Amino acid sequence: MAVYKHMSLLQFTDRGIYCPPGDFYIDPWLPCERAVITHAHSDHARWGMKSYLSTPLTGEVMKHRLGQSIILETLDYGIKQHIHGVSVSFHPAGHIPGSAQVRVEYKGEVWVAAGDYKTHVDGVSAPFESVKCHGFITESTFGLPVYHWKENQEILKEINDWWRNNASLNVTSILFCYALGKAQRVIQGLENIGPVYCHGAVENTNEVLRNAGLMIGSTELLTRDVRNEELSKALVIAPPSADSDAWLKKFKDVSTAAASGWMALRGTRRRRNLDRGFVMSDHADWNGLLSAIKSSEAEKVAVTHGYAPIFAKYLNEIGIQATAESTAFEGETIDKNTEEVA
Ligand SMILES: [Zn+2]
Ligand SMILES: [Zn+2]
Repeated sequence: MAVYKHMSLLQFTDRGIYCPPGDFYIDPWLPCERAVITHAHSDHARWGMKSYLSTPLTGEVMKHRLGQSIILETLDYGIKQHIHGVSVSFHPAGHIPGSAQVRVEYKGEVWVAAGDYKTHVDGVSAPFESVKCHGFITESTFGLPVYHWKENQEILKEINDWWRNNASLNVTSILFCYALGKAQRVIQGLENIGPVYCHGAVENTNEVLRNAGLMIGSTELLTRDVRNEELSKALVIAPPSADSDAWLKKFKDVSTAAASGWMALRGTRRRRNLDRGFVMSDHADWNGLLSAIKSSEAEKVAVTHGYAPIFAKYLNEIGIQATAESTAFEGETIDKNTEEVA
């Protein structure tokens, strides 16, 4: 097999992950001619690219967020497109609806940029698919052994139980989670306990995804006209950025919660002044990262996001050649001021 030896097929530059023979970037953070996008979270799908290539679902969300006038080409999972002789295809990453790993192949060498991914099945995203490659670019948002996720059904049961209990006491349940991905994952798993209202940022995203064919339960837009009596048994889903005293003031009795991988860390919930914390992440946990890396059979691994240096060091210790790479990706954050990067 002739392998492209002169340089890595995917390289880290100050503009983003670059493919020299194909002359394109994957999830670039600075403007470029041709961007291949793994998913529509704001730290991966940025404004200002001459053209975008993504899955159809990611494309719909990008048009909503970046403007209908972006130059967009879409490609279904598993279909190959050639860019200057480089074969490019998308494969499910299991992170959020539409999310993809990017597989590139040139002269017999295969690299995969996984973007953000998780190996747990979440009910709304196409499940993670392992792709064999020579080089694998992995995230490491939760790249420490302390991170271990429960199955989706178990977490959803915790959320439903909390909501049911609040509703029985006429207390409004307010759940903070990311508008793209996490919110739909929660909505899809809700029981029929009461009405479900969504903050505008969440409901807009629901609408875009529904119009693009994603099946999720029905929800209502939270407007000023919704009266407190209608909210007493309701679940309200809002992005973390909505969590302020001013916003919470309009509700009568509330119980607040957040769904995030960071809820696994002691103290996070208390610092955020929340009544409940649900450990629910759209990123791979420790075992998920290791199983994805091993099943890729990659000889070289590049680690981004979060715990990159520590995780890369661990991979080298277990005999997998790995380097930590710095990027502008933010991983999952619990910062109220960050709209969403999970
Ligand atoms: Zn990310
Ligand atoms: Zn993401």
